[in-house]
Amino acid sequence: MVIESKIPKEAEIPPTDFVIVGGTGDLALRKIFPALFHRFLDGQIPESCALIAAARHTLPKDDFLAQLRPFCDEVITKENEADWLAFGERVQIIGFDVKTGEGAEEIEAACLATAAVPRVFYFAISPTLFSDACQTLERTGLKTEQTRLVVEKPMGHDLKSAEALDDSILAVFEERQIYRIDHYLGKETVQNLMALRFANSIFESLWSNAHIDHVQISVAEEVGVGSRASYYDDFGALRDMVQNHLLQLLCLVAMEPPSKFVADQVRDEKLRVLRALKPITRDNFDRCVKLGQYTKGSIEAKPVDSYSNEVGHASRTETFAALRCEISNWRWSGVPFYLRTGKRLAGRASEIVITFKRPPHNIFEDGPRSSEVMEPNRLVIRLQPNEGLKLSMTSKEPGPGGMRLFPASLNLSFNETFKTRLPEAYERLLMDVARGNQTLFMRSDEVEAAWAFIDPIVNEAKLRQPEKYTAGTWGPVSAFELMAEHGHRWIEPEVDG
Ligand code: NAP
Repeated sequence: MVIESKIPKEAEIPPTDFVIVGGTGDLALRKIFPALFHRFLDGQIPESCALIAAARHTLPKDDFLAQLRPFCDEVITKENEADWLAFGERVQIIGFDVKTGEGAEEIEAACLATAAVPRVFYFAISPTLFSDACQTLERTGLKTEQTRLVVEKPMGHDLKSAEALDDSILAVFEERQIYRIDHYLGKETVQNLMALRFANSIFESLWSNAHIDHVQISVAEEVGVGSRASYYDDFGALRDMVQNHLLQLLCLVAMEPPSKFVADQVRDEKLRVLRALKPITRDNFDRCVKLGQYTKGSIEAKPVDSYSNEVGHASRTETFAALRCEISNWRWSGVPFYLRTGKRLAGRASEIVITFKRPPHNIFEDGPRSSEVMEPNRLVIRLQPNEGLKLSMTSKEPGPGGMRLFPASLNLSFNETFKTRLPEAYERLLMDVARGNQTLFMRSDEVEAAWAFIDPIVNEAKLRQPEKYTAGTWGPVSAFELMAEHGHRWIEPEVDG
């Protein structure tokens, strides 16, 4: 069945000012303004919203739009070219220095005049500027009661720096005004995971150690470090990906049902999961963590260089991490949660795989090929590419000739089921900020609990040399051993192409 989707009434946003600080940078051009454009095309941005790109150096509007267009081109057609021009008309580029406050008056003048209008400041700037930027917004009076602040990762590089960063933001803004983005939480399938678990009864009754054997969460990238080499070499996969995206996904799989789908209740439940993670320390590190770094190889038949050549020096930074985590509570005791992420892997894919326990007894064991095909049931939640859900099960092969079993699957591809294009995560999250809905944003205690779990792992990792893996493969051999030791194996994700 194909379902035509329309913007429902509750999805409309009130008139809102969007001030993208660092509005001429990479993040703004690749993600934030294209997201605003898509929402504009769908009529979700009211006439009266101010759309401002703020940075120290301004550039002519035409040049800005020329830089932005390639990231929006995919949806611009002859028929809607006028909408692109209208969007361009709405964008204002204003010189603003978050250190000195120069340009604050121009920003104030460009915003809607009334104090009741939500004013969103999106910090697409380095976190080293956050403290100054918050002080400047207060000092210049740009911060109003209705101001909402959006901040991006990295939120610190360890617990101590995350606390310091938070303190500097919380000195000016209240928690209710702060939106810490993890764009993985804005993905359609991630929200569908909530619907799947909490709007249906069939899965939730199976959602525990009584029926689930193990959980795998993979976030694989084909890209290397590119222009982010110096940032990445300081961070590595554990801090760049596991501390935020992978742990957030783990929380959503493992959390208890909140009594209401509202921000603080959801965040309380996620926090409980983070606090229940069994610590990984020196004693169990080698059994629970495997790290890798890519060497030369090829991806899609194109040669790619090694990590050390890309960063320009020999380095111990891990570009791959696989972890075996345990959650110490009644629901999950004894169920391993395997997390893995890496760069220059064989494909780009993000998936959560829930593997259920095998049936307790195989009554078909004498049937032809029955033991080969009787795989456990798996629920695959695909975040990218091709967002969707797949439930694999064993079925009877049609026709006479005895009980022949074969692996079948129920496949729900959101792109095929819903007629319209699915909004990107940033689109949904920006609209949630305008509506004042913090459910899909992290609270400071969650960020800090995630660092408290990751810090000891990073400290141990620093003492070790990551194992090399060839670019274009699925990571180092030890990551496969991590699974095999417990009778498990990584399920190869569905990749682009
Ligand atoms: P970028 O391309 O270097 O852009 C930085 C922006 O900040 C520019 O517009 C720059 O313009 C502006 N800026 C610098 N100093 C300023 C000041 N004192 N006052 C006002 N504006 C100032 O960086 P980016 O890649 O967009 O990343 C921005 C932040 O987002 C970083 O913290 C990054 O880690 C994070 N992030 C980026 C991505 C991504 O995909 N790029 C993804 C996740 C998180 P002027 O120099 O003209 O002021």
